[in-house]
Amino acid sequence: MENDEENEDEKEDEKMSKYCNPLIFIIIFLVVLVILMLSLVVFWKLEVGESCPKNCPELPNECKTAECVALAGTLLSWQNTSVDPCEDFYEYTCGKYHEHTANEGTRMHEKDEIVLNLIKHFILKNQSTNSRSEIALKLLYKSCTESHRRENIEDHIERVQVEIFQNIQKIGKWPIADKNWKESDFDLNEMLTNMAKLHMQDFGFFETGLVEYPINGSPKQLIIRPSLDRFSISQEKLAETIFDVLRFSGHDALRKNLLRDVQESLDLDKELGNFYISLNSWPISASLEEVQSAVPNIDFERIMKSFLHPEHGNWTRLKAKISSGRFDSFFNSKNNISAIISRTKPRILANYLILKYIEYAQFFYALAPISLESEYDTCLMVITSFLPRAAIRVFVRNHFKKENKAVASELVDVIKKAYIEMIQNSTWLHEETRKKAILKVETLKKVIGYTEEYEKEGALDAMFETNLRISESIMLGNHFQLHLSPQDSFFTLMTKINRFKTEQLMEYVSSDSLFNPVEKTTTANAYYYHSKNLLSVLVPFLDKPLFDFQYPKYVAMAGVGRILAHEIGHAFDTKGRHFNELGEKTDWWTPEDSVEYDKRVMCLRDQFENFKDPSYGGRQNDSETASEMVADALGLEASWIALESMDMSKEESLVKFGNEDFRKLFFQVAALDFCSPTRIDTHHPRFLVDLSHPTNRFRINGAFSNLESFAKTYECPVGSRMNPEKKCRMF
Ligand SMILES: [Zn+2]
Repeated sequence: MENDEENEDEKEDEKMSKYCNPLIFIIIFLVVLVILMLSLVVFWKLEVGESCPKNCPELPNECKTAECVALAGTLLSWQNTSVDPCEDFYEYTCGKYHEHTANEGTRMHEKDEIVLNLIKHFILKNQSTNSRSEIALKLLYKSCTESHRRENIEDHIERVQVEIFQNIQKIGKWPIADKNWKESDFDLNEMLTNMAKLHMQDFGFFETGLVEYPINGSPKQLIIRPSLDRFSISQEKLAETIFDVLRFSGHDALRKNLLRDVQESLDLDKELGNFYISLNSWPISASLEEVQSAVPNIDFERIMKSFLHPEHGNWTRLKAKISSGRFDSFFNSKNNISAIISRTKPRILANYLILKYIEYAQFFYALAPISLESEYDTCLMVITSFLPRAAIRVFVRNHFKKENKAVASELVDVIKKAYIEMIQNSTWLHEETRKKAILKVETLKKVIGYTEEYEKEGALDAMFETNLRISESIMLGNHFQLHLSPQDSFFTLMTKINRFKTEQLMEYVSSDSLFNPVEKTTTANAYYYHSKNLLSVLVPFLDKPLFDFQYPKYVAMAGVGRILAHEIGHAFDTKGRHFNELGEKTDWWTPEDSVEYDKRVMCLRDQFENFKDPSYGGRQNDSETASEMVADALGLEASWIALESMDMSKEESLVKFGNEDFRKLFFQVAALDFCSPTRIDTHHPRFLVDLSHPTNRFRINGAFSNLESFAKTYECPVGSRMNPEKKCRMF
């Protein structure tokens, strides 16, 4: 057997020697080479010939950043190319979304959660820090989680009751808890002022609050109005709470006649709730002086002054922003809160104010917001809601590309120009309306991420203080500082933080700043405020995968650009169109234009009505959804105009998309933000808010089918679902 094999080998060697003739080898090599080159040419012709029959552009460079590659991957894996884009573009772009995510909502919802997790990760990292805002965040988170741990919860509740009692001592003498209380101990304004120092803004007789729509021409005002909320707990429950507050503070012997005292307060509260308050319209405005003379026994000025930082608050500036209205409870000549105060026994008044504080303190600080069984990390919610700027600073410093901010800001300017062009080219707007609409776009203000005052290194950090670095804070001489200590209880921390927020809020009301200090900052979203004519874009929205400064321009315009254009569209939606460029409520439309506008809105509503969507759920085809449909229609058209105005010749392509028409990619990327798993269960708490918007499927298929540009780009035959003969158009 072995020999046979050797023979075989010899034969092979012979054959080999024939082929090894150098001439034959060269000929074979040349033939193979020619075949290879020919087939390459044919392939290339076939490839390029399909997508550009006439002037073939050179293959553009590909965007190879991690963000671009990931985006290309998303587009490829979510799409379902077995579906005809002219029949169902939603399915064509999002058909396989559910195969790639466990997320219950859109990728923007997912981003919200990622941002929260990044903040949490940072806080839990056992890393020492010199940043005062970071120390404050860590301190609050630690205190929150520890005090609400199952084994600590009873101690925590007990401690809260004791601290509530301590704060009551700061407000004034409390008849229920003081056997020796006498009428001469009662000082209404002293008590109200001390409550304001504890950052209470609802005093039962009246409340104060920030409004951001113009009254008397100024969009930011601190208003005085009747209290809207009455006691929400029963007599027994209130008595039980008081009993606990007294017991833990060692005063349980004092609960004689407790139920009677509580009932008296409840009766007074009921009487105060009898005044008629219209929630729909603001009454004729009234100045601070006018309210003061109508209700002489309340010293409004003294109370509101105590909202300010004791040294650095500017009363003159704040006073100029205080206003009220001719409410029944202040101005009714037969019966108003002043008359009620005059005829009510001081004992009842004193008890009432303290009970107001107890209800407030219980609700806000201790128990209600913390649910141990919650699927969310409640303490993470607490820190991001109560220290919103410190929370977002962690994200900005550790994860955010600052370049994104400038590029997004430029994008807004391009979109504004597109809006002006769209309004100018409107076939039906009368000159008068057209001019005002353009003025509204021109004067639109923007806050992209955060305002300039926070640009400076350490600017935000300077507002925080912990007892670890007191000397530094004095050296910096900063005005609004939060002093927290690791020895503080959770209740004390929250009390200090709320006091700090009140001071900041007063500063915000008095100033021209556009960046509301108490607004939530950690969501991936953007908002339009018609009362301020302001576009506000939150930082997480300007981050991957939604945005990146190195994205090709058509991607940026399709994604974040389209959503910003949608937000600007709210300036002209069914509600926003009634506000002018200053945010004042006025009718600046000619009657004919208003009629035509409503007709066009009706077109959108009919379209939605006839749109069959399995995830329709509990949605209403009402004015709220109409507003969203108008914003979608305007936003899509404006972002398309903006896209066409930009030079795309040097923009890179996306990996695996070769020289795919950037216009096609524009629509595909624009659709990505609406991809979501089909949900019929609209009772899920996270999705209740979404009921104000049309379904995601409609927001692509319905909205895109109104665009000539879409039909043209995808060459959809007239009459196909994405290119219906009847189209709705706003301007
Ligand atoms: Zn909207």
